[in-house]
Amino acid sequence: MTLPPKKEKQQDPGRTKPMSRTRRFSTSDAGSRQRPATGPAQLLIKPGSQESRLLFGPGSKNSLIIDYRALLGLSKEDSQNYVEDTAERLAPDLDASEVMRLDEDALLRMTYGMSILDANPVDGLDYDKGIKALFRWARQSKSFPGAIELRFEREAAGASGLSKSLLLNDLPPLPDVTVTELGKIYNPTRVLQVPRPLDFRMLESGLFSAIRQFLDLQLARFEAGPGQQLDREPIERLRELAGHLQEYVKFSCGPYILANPDGPYFTGYDLSKRVESSESVQLNDELLLSYAMNVASYLGYAPEFGQRFVTAGFDGVRDANVLRSLMKELLTDTRTSEKVARLTRLSGLHFGGGTVRLNPLIPRNQDRIEARWNHLRTMIHEFVHVLTHPNFAAKADQIGQGQIIREGFVDLFAAVIFRQLSGDIQAHPELAGRFLADLGTFKPPTGDQMTTRYGDSGKKAESVLELVGLPNVSAALVLGNTGSIGLGGPGTGKGGDT
Ligand SMILES: [Zn+2]
Repeated sequence: MTLPPKKEKQQDPGRTKPMSRTRRFSTSDAGSRQRPATGPAQLLIKPGSQESRLLFGPGSKNSLIIDYRALLGLSKEDSQNYVEDTAERLAPDLDASEVMRLDEDALLRMTYGMSILDANPVDGLDYDKGIKALFRWARQSKSFPGAIELRFEREAAGASGLSKSLLLNDLPPLPDVTVTELGKIYNPTRVLQVPRPLDFRMLESGLFSAIRQFLDLQLARFEAGPGQQLDREPIERLRELAGHLQEYVKFSCGPYILANPDGPYFTGYDLSKRVESSESVQLNDELLLSYAMNVASYLGYAPEFGQRFVTAGFDGVRDANVLRSLMKELLTDTRTSEKVARLTRLSGLHFGGGTVRLNPLIPRNQDRIEARWNHLRTMIHEFVHVLTHPNFAAKADQIGQGQIIREGFVDLFAAVIFRQLSGDIQAHPELAGRFLADLGTFKPPTGDQMTTRYGDSGKKAESVLELVGLPNVSAALVLGNTGSIGLGGPGTGKGGDT
């Protein structure tokens, strides 16, 4: 889809922004142009209409006005003028001369994207930043106005920050009483925000033996019987599934994920190119230590282990170094550190730069379809780490039970996406084809795959969800608005968004 070819505008290379002030876009001009653009058909979405609600999910008060009528039949020059003039009005300090260098497809996206921004004024939106982001998106995107399910419009609103501002403005502040309740969940061993003293002997007692037991149980799942070998999923297949997954999540899992202008959908991140086998991970002391800390944080709050972290008064902020030293000590035992190394190579992992590692081996007690669900479940979990906003992740080091942030919410969100994906796969043969066709058989996922994992930290995240609702959790995790889960600052529910 392109704008009609038009005589190149005579352009002074030294042309500066003020010149654009002399040219004003006028809608009445539009009809008089000789050649109509091959743009989309007229699309008018009224506030509250079914289509516009698609943008922000059921029950939302938000809707976008999308009215392209004035844009139909614009020449290339008209479009450039429209973008520049609108930019000047919305963000007077912005230099929008970049519009002259856009190719025809990008100019079309920019023109229609800009009209969405213009028709929907919203409080709290940084138009300067938003229009710059819209330019970046217009050059990189492959979508066009009129695509099914308003995909173009949803992308444009997400890229510019319009969706983010609308969604965040829609969230009422948390009542103080809720923020207090949430504080108790995040800091189980603090009384009025002050940590209880640490009982080191209580913390230490039985911790090493519990971790060793846990390691053996996990390793046993990957021991093939005598003379047998474990099946494996080719890494190429996992990469292909990753591509389908990223595309599915983009438009199917609520409006928040596509509302982060700095998130993976607007930075060129491609999950299918970032999936690697966990078997080939470069091991180092820090990686082993982080695995051991993870296991300890799981067992420390596990009822079957007597919730040792709680009874010992362990506080993740104050006592982080105590736990680190203990785990370093544990890893000086060669047999234990070898087991941790083997398990690290058998686990899903994510790394800061967006690399996701998955274990291609299929545990001996799983058939192919169970393994496929499991791979998808793990892949979603690791992808949620990629979706996680840095503001949100940073809160892990500021609360007593940081594991709620590090893994609890991540897995809760992963379970929500997985339940939806598995339901959609069962309802839509086309989707099933993409994710399961090569298996030639079907069986729904197990209950364990459908629920939040990570023990007590997952349960705590669920308690928070019950108190604040999924929109608030999504706004915190994906958009970094941590105030919406009561982590805006010491004892406040104010937003922590930057
Ligand atoms: Zn994780």
